Amino acid sequence: MQVFKFGGASVKNAEGVKNLASVLQEVGYDETLVVVSAMGKTTNALELVIKNYFDNKPELQNAIQEVKTYHEDIIKGLFENTHHHIFKKVATIFDDLDAFLRRNKSPDYNFVYDQVIGFGELTSTTIISGYLNDIGLKNNWLDVREFIKTDDYYRTANVDWEQTQSNIKANFDTKVLNITQGFLGSDANNFTTTLGREGSDYTAAIFAYCLNAEAVSIWKDVPGVLNADPRYFENAQLLHSISYREAIELAFYGASVIHPKTLQPLQQKEIPLFVKSFLNPKNAGTRVGKGFGIEPNIPCYIVKKNQVLISLSSLDFSYIVEENISEIFKLLHLYKMKVDVIQNSAISFSVCFDNTYNNLERLLQHLKAKFKVTVYDNVSLYTVRHYNEQAISSIEKDKELLLKQLTQETIQIVTK
Ligand code: ADP
Ligand code: ASP
Ligand code: MG
Repeated sequence: MQVFKFGGASVKNAEGVKNLASVLQEVGYDETLVVVSAMGKTTNALELVIKNYFDNKPELQNAIQEVKTYHEDIIKGLFENTHHHIFKKVATIFDDLDAFLRRNKSPDYNFVYDQVIGFGELTSTTIISGYLNDIGLKNNWLDVREFIKTDDYYRTANVDWEQTQSNIKANFDTKVLNITQGFLGSDANNFTTTLGREGSDYTAAIFAYCLNAEAVSIWKDVPGVLNADPRYFENAQLLHSISYREAIELAFYGASVIHPKTLQPLQQKEIPLFVKSFLNPKNAGTRVGKGFGIEPNIPCYIVKKNQVLISLSSLDFSYIVEENISEIFKLLHLYKMKVDVIQNSAISFSVCFDNTYNNLERLLQHLKAKFKVTVYDNVSLYTVRHYNEQAISSIEKDKELLLKQLTQETIQIVTK
């Protein structure tokens, strides 16, 4: 049993879907589960739909139409027969979306978000499964929500491993080619939940764990895991093999090529993870596995843009101690801020975080009642693993330094 994951970039147009089919033909698809994300930037487009819906914006209909037209164009590029049943099938999915938005009365943003956002993956897998069947790659479309069960912490639901394991054991046919949605699950009331943005890699790992798969391959628009994101760093080099531990660290610090939750389940069962190019499927890519360290052993650079750095001091210049810090963290948790770095001195406490859910203003309102707050918006956080002098100076060059922290293996620098 092997598990493949194809992300949005790999299936952003009809060519991409055809390429997915070629990859399967080239590398083989016996006893394979294929996990697929929403096509291209569909998840972002659906986020806009949800925002317009809650803000009662007249742009809502346009936003929905854009998602529909985008998928219709892809179908037209894949199926010559304009009477093919796929057109009807996809139209029905979008009818369900319209019906949900018409009938919904829940004011809970996170709940509605998950119900709407899931249409991206449902549509992509329906199209891809239909196309593969059409060209002779017979496959089974699975609704992932019947397998992956979670709590109802909408937008970052937690997996109920026991339920999920028993669903997979009871109902998953390992002998055929299966296609299913990444990113989605369902709660005890069978409402759709999601595992967090970019969570499809994690879906692949959940199935691999429960199925005791031989390997997971995630197919990317890069040759594998590089020592830096090629969008921001020149001359990024391919890492041939890295240990689970190293991959966990890289993902934790924000190397967006692997979703951070993906690695733990794989490590537990020592299932190797391959990160490979969907354009050169026969190339080796990167192998993440047991005990390799990192090969080649070179500094790895990670940048997170658009972070927020705040510095807090008490209004009466008293020390910032455990009590204040625990209060600060309670608020950071309440507003779902993802904390990257903290630094503490006698009278000030600095914290750099990711304002993923746009709750900064509300957080600041709370904090300003108790602390003197200095805010640096839109800062960049650089992390270098296995740093050396040259690596540090290349980051610091021409930038305004706001915070710096070193451990034996890792340096973190916040710059304006
Ligand atoms: P998917 O289509 O599976 O969602 P992503 O776009 O999330 O794929 O991940 C691939 C992208 O991750 C690459 O295009 C690259 O810009 C970025 N990336 C960030 N860090 C790294 C890294 N260390 N190695 C390779 N790619 C990286
Ligand atoms: N489609 C989801 C997202 O864009 C999940 C994923 O791509 O992994 O976040
Ligand atoms: Mg992605």
